[in-house]
Amino acid sequence: MFYREIPLIKKKFYLMKKAKSKRRNLKATRRVAVYVNSFIDDYILNHNDEYGLSFEQQTILTNNLLQLNSAQVYKDYSRIINSRYVDTNTLDKIILRNQADKKALSITTAQLERINKNIKAIDDVVTKYEVKVDKYKELIKKYPQHASRKGIITESIKNINYMRSSGINIQPHVFGYNEISPLTESLYRQSEVQSKVGLKEAENEKSLQENGELKYAWKTWVWTGSGKTTRHRSNDGQTVAFDDLFEIVNDATGEVDMMRYPLDPNASFSNAGICYCDIEYHNNPP
Ligand SMILES: [Zn+2]
Repeated sequence: MFYREIPLIKKKFYLMKKAKSKRRNLKATRRVAVYVNSFIDDYILNHNDEYGLSFEQQTILTNNLLQLNSAQVYKDYSRIINSRYVDTNTLDKIILRNQADKKALSITTAQLERINKNIKAIDDVVTKYEVKVDKYKELIKKYPQHASRKGIITESIKNINYMRSSGINIQPHVFGYNEISPLTESLYRQSEVQSKVGLKEAENEKSLQENGELKYAWKTWVWTGSGKTTRHRSNDGQTVAFDDLFEIVNDATGEVDMMRYPLDPNASFSNAGICYCDIEYHNNPP
């Protein structure tokens, strides 16, 4: 395995890029959290005896999420769609728009799956315990709109403090609620990386057509951690041919995945879950 030394100045550039990307993704993730929370609040405050979402609720949720996700994904993919490496012919653009639509749809599907599980957790809690609507209303006013609903639901259970102090076991399903934000941030980051990979592929293809050679023959995995060791440190600088896969080791668990790029969806969650490693394309053979 060949490892390339990444100059300090370049490291600083990647660190800045990472900070910018993180800000951007967190902002978009927060928009989703605010929307989903308002949806959940509505569900809890108007809870009836029905289990799960009605067809109408499901449709509204899907459409709104799709709109939020498409806006984010299109920002990523417009880099390729509007790049000079993509022919202005409409077919290429249609194919790319299709890719962006597919991406937005797959993000939405993953979010819907999680939200429906959360709705089930809420149904379980509401059936098993008495959730005080007034308390819930009071708490959602007190905390920010994007704040976790898991704690708020738990705190709104009647006699929760009594149950806790008496050592009564609150059933695990109370905590079966998982926030939408880590999933969304990870998928937004993945879309960002995938659009970059797509752009480099387009550049390579164009170069191959015009000059008979690749513009970037190599790629390098860039670990963007600073100071403290995170799971991908030992992979920093790993360099492989453009079409090859990186052999990525999770430094914490030892799990190994063959990955085309950071957050490659074919890898295990241990290596592909939320990650701000970067990838550098270049033409300097090892
Ligand atoms: Zn990483």
